[in-house]
Amino acid sequence: MANLLYTEYEEKIRPYIDLIDSLREQGLNKDLTLPSIAVIGDQSSGKSSVLEMLSEIALPRGTGIVTRCPLELKMKNGTKGSQWKGQLNYRDVSLLLNSPQDVEEEIKKAQIHLAGKTGISSELISLQVESPCVPDLTLIDLPGIIRVPTGNQPQDIGNMIKNLIQSYIGKEETIILVVISCNVDIATTEALKMAQEVDPKGDRTLGVLTKPDLIDRDTEKDILKIINNQMVPLRKGYMLIKCRGQHDLITNTPLANALKKEIAFFNDNVHFRPLLEKKLASFQHLSSRLTNELVLQIKKCLPGIQEKIGSKMNEIMKQLDKLGGAIPEDTKTKVHNLTSRILAYCDELIHLAMGEYKKDYPIDVKLHDFAREKFTEWYKKLDGVKIGLNENAAIMVKHHEKNSKGRELPGFTKYRIFEAIIREQIQELLEPSLEMLNEFSARVETTCNTLALQHFGSYPLLVGEIQIKIAEVCNKMERKAEEMLETNFKMEAMVYAPDEMYSYKLMEFQSRGQQKGNSSMTNSSLDPQAMVIHLHAYYQIAIDRLVQMVPMVLRYYLLQELSAQIKITLAQLLFHYKDVDALLQENDETSEKRRDLKDNLDRLTQARNLLMNY
Ligand code: GDP
Ligand code: MG
Repeated sequence: MANLLYTEYEEKIRPYIDLIDSLREQGLNKDLTLPSIAVIGDQSSGKSSVLEMLSEIALPRGTGIVTRCPLELKMKNGTKGSQWKGQLNYRDVSLLLNSPQDVEEEIKKAQIHLAGKTGISSELISLQVESPCVPDLTLIDLPGIIRVPTGNQPQDIGNMIKNLIQSYIGKEETIILVVISCNVDIATTEALKMAQEVDPKGDRTLGVLTKPDLIDRDTEKDILKIINNQMVPLRKGYMLIKCRGQHDLITNTPLANALKKEIAFFNDNVHFRPLLEKKLASFQHLSSRLTNELVLQIKKCLPGIQEKIGSKMNEIMKQLDKLGGAIPEDTKTKVHNLTSRILAYCDELIHLAMGEYKKDYPIDVKLHDFAREKFTEWYKKLDGVKIGLNENAAIMVKHHEKNSKGRELPGFTKYRIFEAIIREQIQELLEPSLEMLNEFSARVETTCNTLALQHFGSYPLLVGEIQIKIAEVCNKMERKAEEMLETNFKMEAMVYAPDEMYSYKLMEFQSRGQQKGNSSMTNSSLDPQAMVIHLHAYYQIAIDRLVQMVPMVLRYYLLQELSAQIKITLAQLLFHYKDVDALLQENDETSEKRRDLKDNLDRLTQARNLLMNY
């Protein structure tokens, strides 16, 4: 019978406990929460006592906050007759322990190391124990909940502890073991309230009642009510246990004896005796119950763990992709690698210049959006000049008539005045068009630099070189565009429109004038009002040209040509660069980040492989 139970254990329980242990050893708990049992309770409810009875190791105990860091107690059932083995790990300390007697002192030291003499810390202390006396079980002991700080404890210590507890019990994977003393009112137990907040139905909460030996006479029935789930119901219910009391500590009762005394205590009590039979009392039953609960929890969580591993792996692979693969060793591969990355960057610029955006572009990279905004401003500006002309044309005509009168007989000066006014008006637009060019060019350069950082950010020297090239090309293209604009404005100074087009525009403006009832506008070209109409007609034609020409010059040079030129320039970069190895020197941060990500990926891959067998 005993053998059968043993085989069942080895086949159905052990593998799951081992699995989680291996996953934890691989460090998977850095990536996700593994199923575990967290022990919580109000101060002095008996948490540490419960742990020491389960582990048969004396843990630091006393009054005040004794547990000041989370303590992971990892127990491994050793083969019969094997020696006790212990290991304590915290921060970068790893300590082998030879005897259970050393544990208490070393944990105290560890707590002082991590949390000082009075404070608390969320840093984990991990104690591994292997012995024939312990069950296969991992428990996490947490500081007790206190209401008011005493002595030189930090003022907000109560909240710090609550947050720490919350960070453990808030996880769906964690089984909550709430330790409640029988001699306090269960309704006022803070720990039970906290557990109910995160697990309202009590699906993953197990209540453990301590100190049954300290209750008032004839109050056993009240305790039974709790255990029968009639007070604060929990799906997993409650168990009753008796730990070493103050007297046992003074007389130094060995833990093994305490376990025997516990059984005797329950057997002696008529009210509690049936609980033993129902396996609801004693450490012996608590221990196997916890192991079973943990295995159930592990089975329940495995699909979720597998899913999380998968999505974490995807996430990491994406990040690795962004960093670019590791730098190859030999120069030939390096050059090949770099070339394809540079080409990818250039292609992105070319697409960007064509207005083909990537999905995740921020607004300041979208150059066509910027261009559209600027070109609209330009359009409005030219439109504004037209309106201004309406108001000022008559004055301008008079002004020019007066100033340009030379040897001519009256009536012969009109066409020259017309040209002079037109030239003056159009040339005034050169300056704003150059300003726009300047602004546009600056934006294009910034955008190219931003993308270069995204592509090559981890190679400081390379980024520097590329940015110099970008600046050169931007400058060159800006100069070309500037020349083109200036040439166009010089051509505009010639004053030209096809006769048919001009006549048509003139008729249009004349008929508008007639509609307004301004008869003088229809008079001969010698009339000042008629001159205004000529100005309008021509200006409309010239503005139509400029409204399109300036944006086209900018788009051509600063987007299309520029992206093509950058591609040519950067392609040459590799040929002309003497020391490709130096150029490809990655900054330390990136190599480190890549290494971390790779380690993480390895860890997850191993975990996934392990899980495949379950
Ligand atoms: P913690 O603060 O929750 O870790 O509580 P401890 O485990 O340090 O226990 C507080 C005190 O209660 C200690 O003096 C224990 O000896 C005592 N104690 C715990 N459990 C029992 C019990 O079942 N019976 C008796 N008589 N004393 C207990
Ligand atoms: Mg304690």
